[in-house]
Amino acid sequence: MSVKKIDKENDSWTASVLTVTPEVFPGTLGVSNAGKSLKDGLWNLDIHDIKEYANIENLRADGPPAGGGPGMILRADVILPIIDIIKTKADRRPIMVMTPRGKVFNQLDAKKYSSGAGVIIICGRYEGIDQRVVDSVGALEVSIGDMVLSSGDIAASLVIDSCVRLIDGVMGKKESSFEESFENGLLEYPQYTLPRSYGEHEIPEILLSGNHEKIKKWRIEKSINTTKNNRPDLWRKYLKSD
Ligand code: SAM
Repeated sequence: MSVKKIDKENDSWTASVLTVTPEVFPGTLGVSNAGKSLKDGLWNLDIHDIKEYANIENLRADGPPAGGGPGMILRADVILPIIDIIKTKADRRPIMVMTPRGKVFNQLDAKKYSSGAGVIIICGRYEGIDQRVVDSVGALEVSIGDMVLSSGDIAASLVIDSCVRLIDGVMGKKESSFEESFENGLLEYPQYTLPRSYGEHEIPEILLSGNHEKIKKWRIEKSINTTKNNRPDLWRKYLKSD
């Protein structure tokens, strides 16, 4: 099992992940900007195999649900000792448990956690994780949306990716994050590239006009319309904000 002590003063942003399927990682986190910056040491990915730890202790990683029901639950007495090994006193990283029962993760959370030292993420599988994991370490229960996935690995990758791309030096152009969806409470405007004409579909004339004031106005209008149509909840929030 890989054990990484976090040196708060010198270490880069670090995601420690506890999972029963470590082979999933780095997966999508190992390619493009995230992957390159991982190789360059701008951030660290520290994977812990829950099953390996269970084997060492001669335990099973999971057990049947107390009170009955289908499936298996990951055991607290296997997961919590791994947290004890990873998390030193100086390590202030939040512990997250991936679960559809959690608070839905959003861009504001990504900003908040990307500016810290990193995150410790516990991925569930089967029917989930013993609640005493959350209760013992005050973990944040984090969902990535109102659907049920087979495992927390995809959810963890999503949370890590959204944080990592906000770390200085990870994205190609710094300004690319400033105009993205959610930055100003609205969704992004539609984007186009070459060729100018594709079948019956043309790039909107205004984007080729060179008139930056008009382009800006067009983009704001499109952002507003898209937000109203696709995310009325966000639009209502936007209207209430300053
Ligand atoms: N029995 C659980 C329930 O109904 O809430 C679902 C368990 S799910 C099949 C297995 C694991 O996938 C969960 O423990 C969690 O780690 C992860 N997972 C599934 N959906 C998720 C979501 N929307 N957000 C975050 N993690 C999720």
